[in-house]
Amino acid sequence: MNKLWYKNALIYSLDIATFKDSNHDGIGDIRGLKHRLNYLSGLGVDCIWLLPFYDSPNKDNGYDIKDYYKIDERLGDFGDFAELVDIAEEKGIRILVDMVANHSSDQHPWFQQARKDRNSRYRNFYIWADEKPKNHADFVMFGELQENTNWHFDEEAGAYYYHTFYPHQPDLNMANPEVQEEIKKVMHFWLKLGISGFRLDAVPHMVRKKGDQKFAGDPHEILRDFRDFVEGQKKDAVLLAEVDVEPERYKDFFGEEDQMNMLLNFYVDNYIFLALAREEANPLKKALQQLPQISRKEQYATFLRNHDELDLERLTAPEREEVYGVLAPDEHMRIFGRGIRRRLAPMLNNDRKRLELAFSLLFTLPGSPVLWYGQEIGMGEDLSLEGRESVRTLMQWSGRQNGGYSDAPLEKFVGKMISEGEFSYEKVNVDDQQMDPDSLLNWMRRAISFRKESPEFGWGEFEVIETNNPKVLAHCCRTKNGSAIAIHNFSQKEERAALELKDREGFMNMFGDKIYDPFNPQEESVLLMPYGYRWLCRRQT
Ligand code: MG
Repeated sequence: MNKLWYKNALIYSLDIATFKDSNHDGIGDIRGLKHRLNYLSGLGVDCIWLLPFYDSPNKDNGYDIKDYYKIDERLGDFGDFAELVDIAEEKGIRILVDMVANHSSDQHPWFQQARKDRNSRYRNFYIWADEKPKNHADFVMFGELQENTNWHFDEEAGAYYYHTFYPHQPDLNMANPEVQEEIKKVMHFWLKLGISGFRLDAVPHMVRKKGDQKFAGDPHEILRDFRDFVEGQKKDAVLLAEVDVEPERYKDFFGEEDQMNMLLNFYVDNYIFLALAREEANPLKKALQQLPQISRKEQYATFLRNHDELDLERLTAPEREEVYGVLAPDEHMRIFGRGIRRRLAPMLNNDRKRLELAFSLLFTLPGSPVLWYGQEIGMGEDLSLEGRESVRTLMQWSGRQNGGYSDAPLEKFVGKMISEGEFSYEKVNVDDQQMDPDSLLNWMRRAISFRKESPEFGWGEFEVIETNNPKVLAHCCRTKNGSAIAIHNFSQKEERAALELKDREGFMNMFGDKIYDPFNPQEESVLLMPYGYRWLCRRQT
């Protein structure tokens, strides 16, 4: 058993409902995903992160769970799920499932009981106040969409309850040991179905104090307990956490190798986009220099775009404006006063060179890469859809009618298929790109296979290499078995950069945007094409 599989895994996140429909009802399902496992295997995917697929009123894309033990019946049943996990395992693909423990839906029976009866054991599963607290707006996440408060008055309960996100998502009282036990029971259940762990939603909010909640001791003890419990059930299972905080707080969530195994690296993600917008390497260089080195059992999960908005909260207001100006020039491309609701390809004007640059960063920055479905073919967004739905359109499998997603009549589709313009399914789809050796999809396959030949990017200690050119980022990842260097040119012009690298003998070209001359350790500087990238490696013999 490889307990540290996540140190070097390609993670692919998807929503079952929007991926592939198998039973012609217009709703993607587990069997549809099962039929596409060969495709994911061919792409080089090691692990699938499934967005919530539980019973839910679906007011927040399934992040409002009504029953943690029930699969949304439109998507399939437990038989389908068991088969999916088994067949994925045969292909060497693991499954992570989204675990939303910060809050439930207000339709969850716990909340229904809690609001009905003050004396119910479930009352204390949530956080209540009889009077609206004076400090009533400490973390309002969707300020544009709701009253500016974390407390919502519930007529039936005759009291206010706390919610970090929408009012229909009451926060669970994580300080209550009974809640912790229930969450562990849920995790136990899913681990028994053969999954390899959880993507934990909203982790900093889980351990934050809310109202008059009383944690017995350090709230992070919950995270230690979850880690211990999960590993106790399955030795190679992991916790991948949504932790959007400053990098100096990352350590708080890794702990002493006893809390989260992986953190989604929001901080570096923000600075990737500032660097791309500015066409300057420096913002990303500085961000990497702020990034704590991590231990053998810890890992960063690097991503470019995810299922939510591109959240730019880690940038200063002027920096955010700069990114908006270049990547989201129109107001309707932005959301919540903090982010962008576009996909990667349209943000980068569908410019293949810039896309390759961005993905080359994804695959070489320290950590394990996470792809959002459809990124591999350069899918676009639909800004006519509300809020974050813009980046959740249906997977574009072919240029046939309905994009190969489903045979159902269009009006039955659960989501929107992009059918017009530069990003329509007729122009951007898997089938066509499979056939075209120069497609983005086939480039991705090559890049991923080279990434797999370069485990140093996942395992190594990283170091930024100083260059004399602010347009060029160079970094090196070293293990005892070898070293890998990646060099990226953020500028639209050809650039040369001298690398301040003492130990430079023995590096060879591995991958790049073109076939560069062999790396010459005596030569003062290296050449890069516009938006060019080069990967070099050196192995112990
Ligand atoms: Mg279906």
